[in-house]
Amino acid sequence: EMLRGKRVIVTGASSGIGEQMAYHLARMETHLLLTARTEAKLQKVVERCLELGAASAGYVSGSMEDTTFPDVVVKEAENTWGGLDMLILNHIAYSYFNYFDGDVGHVRKLLEINFLSYVAMTVSALPMLKESNGSIVVISSMAGEIGTPFTAPYTATKFALEGFFSSLRHEFIMEKVNVSITLCVLGYIDTENAVRAVSHAVRDKPAPKEECALEIIKSGVLRQRELHYPPWLVGNLLLLQAIAPDFLDSLIRGNYKVENIKR
Ligand code: NAP
Repeated sequence: EMLRGKRVIVTGASSGIGEQMAYHLARMETHLLLTARTEAKLQKVVERCLELGAASAGYVSGSMEDTTFPDVVVKEAENTWGGLDMLILNHIAYSYFNYFDGDVGHVRKLLEINFLSYVAMTVSALPMLKESNGSIVVISSMAGEIGTPFTAPYTATKFALEGFFSSLRHEFIMEKVNVSITLCVLGYIDTENAVRAVSHAVRDKPAPKEECALEIIKSGVLRQRELHYPPWLVGNLLLLQAIAPDFLDSLIRGNYKVENIKR
């Protein structure tokens, strides 16, 4: 009800959680602009969104590694709708799941895609979001709150998101800018790419992407400060981090099948 007719951008919408968010938003009869690199996948997702009841659905394909692309996406929304109600920043670049290999270039590339493009899209979209009293939803991870092994480049980009958007939230409140920022701290979710990357080496069972996507949308529309999903897992880990960080670190290391990590 609250989202019917609203104009929403979802990044990284060609697969995984972003794709599931697009389907939920379509059922809620929103106007959708989706983005990712793979045009063929985006076309299919858009078709499905229209079948599910989206008020309208379109896409822009391109890579967030291209520093001009975030602005291209936001301009498309401006030209099509003349405004924007919700910006969901969700995309991530591929990274390896292994011991840090010393490749600084990869860390730089990941920062560009997973972090700097989030900042650039926020900057481009802010005038429209101020106009609509809209929302920014930032998809982060447990790995952006608590250090985890084998993900050093990825983890760095997620910690950066927490720092940037937490600071910006203060400034919005201080300057009475009525744009909400919701940071979504997610545990292990059963998307194809995540399961392929880590299932051989972690003991946890992943949570369902469909439910995760719905919880993200709810938290954004309710203008929550943070979402913890799955709540019991993320909540307990963050509590342990506050009261017994060394104990938590040893629990984390115990969760990996290190013998399955081949250098
Ligand atoms: P995913 O299935 O791998 O989807 C990633 C999306 O990003 C795809 O649509 C991909 O499409 C797009 N993408 C990749 N490289 C890109 C680039 N250079 N430029 C623009 N788009 C690009 O990921 P997911 O598992 O759904 O994760 C979604 C979000 O949840 C991420 O922010 C992730 O950090 C967070 N998260 C996930 C988990 C989990 O266990 N799944 C856990 C914690 C947090 P193309 O390849 O077509 O570009």
